Amino acid sequence: MTIFEKIIAREIPAKIVYEDEVCICFHDIAPQAPVHLLMVPKKCIVRVGEAVAEDKETLGHLMLMAQKVAKQEGFNDSGFRVVINSGPDSGEEVPHLHLHLLAGRQMGVPLA
Ligand code: AMP
Repeated sequence: MTIFEKIIAREIPAKIVYEDEVCICFHDIAPQAPVHLLMVPKKCIVRVGEAVAEDKETLGHLMLMAQKVAKQEGFNDSGFRVVINSGPDSGEEVPHLHLHLLAGRQMGVPLA
């Protein structure tokens, strides 16, 4: 069971900002920006690199809910960065697909 499944099951606490039948969104415990949220599917897709065709609807839902949360939390207009890590070189720590939503400051380029 991943740490995110434990959050979904309410076995460990998180600052949840949005939840529906497909996904949950909560504050990252180690924020890299003034706003740093994680959008996580309840179905444990391990990573983008292992997603399959039947995950298509879930993957699309995550993007649309990112927009919904950005509006709800008031950073859709100022802008935000979506980061998805997949596999060792990306720095992925949790093997349960998640979108990082970063907002509240100017983001640097390149992504480094
Ligand atoms: P990644 O490196 O893309 O796998 O990102 C994993 C993220 O999960 C990191 O930004 C961590 O800070 C975050 N994280 C780990 N444990 C927790 C937790 N219990 N609650 C919230 N965020 C967490």
